[in-house]
Amino acid sequence: MVQKPSAAVTTLTSNAETALREVAKEAAHCRRCPLYKLGTQTVFGAGPADASVMIVGEQPGDVEDRQGLPFVGPAGRMLDHALESAGLRRDCLYVTNAVKHFKHVVTGKRRLHQKPNAYEIDRCKWWLDQELDIIDPELAVAMGATAARSLIGKPIKIGTARGNVLHLPSGRPVLVTIHPSALLRLRDSESRAVEFARFVADLRRVGEIVPSVRT
Ligand code: SF4
Repeated sequence: MVQKPSAAVTTLTSNAETALREVAKEAAHCRRCPLYKLGTQTVFGAGPADASVMIVGEQPGDVEDRQGLPFVGPAGRMLDHALESAGLRRDCLYVTNAVKHFKHVVTGKRRLHQKPNAYEIDRCKWWLDQELDIIDPELAVAMGATAARSLIGKPIKIGTARGNVLHLPSGRPVLVTIHPSALLRLRDSESRAVEFARFVADLRRVGEIVPSVRT
């Protein structure tokens, strides 16, 4: 028998949904750093307000910037594939980025990704912290150096920290892994297969820590 959530749980969830909507509305007018001048729009997080796991990436890419949704471009497809391979349900994860605007340079007809700097990451943490406070996930996943810097508050080496669970001063666990776009940059199919398997192994840990998000 499917258990219905209690009235208290339902109220908490709808309060969180309302709070998230309000913060997303505020973020749409953000001018906290110069990146608002570059992106088409603020790309806020997406997913259930009562998610047990929050996945954090770097920043929206070209497709995300146009559609206004996180992880709907090539890196998003890679993430979907890895989540499926790791036996995780994307529909019960909250997915967001450390930086909410697409930083890029225009070269001819192309908009080329540029890495956000420390100032931009730290300014945008204002929004990520609010998402964390409202959703209050059991586990956050930092995909790549930008997400790790934002969540942990200082730079860390992904090569040594990946696969490990760090704890924020609040006690919240953060699993560190790579960003799926790193896999897209690998031209050699053998290296890509090896690195994809490592990424999936990192994501499997999510299901071990929070079994409710497994398929
Ligand atoms: S990148 Fe973040 S801090 Fe900068 S303008 Fe956009 S939403 Fe605001």
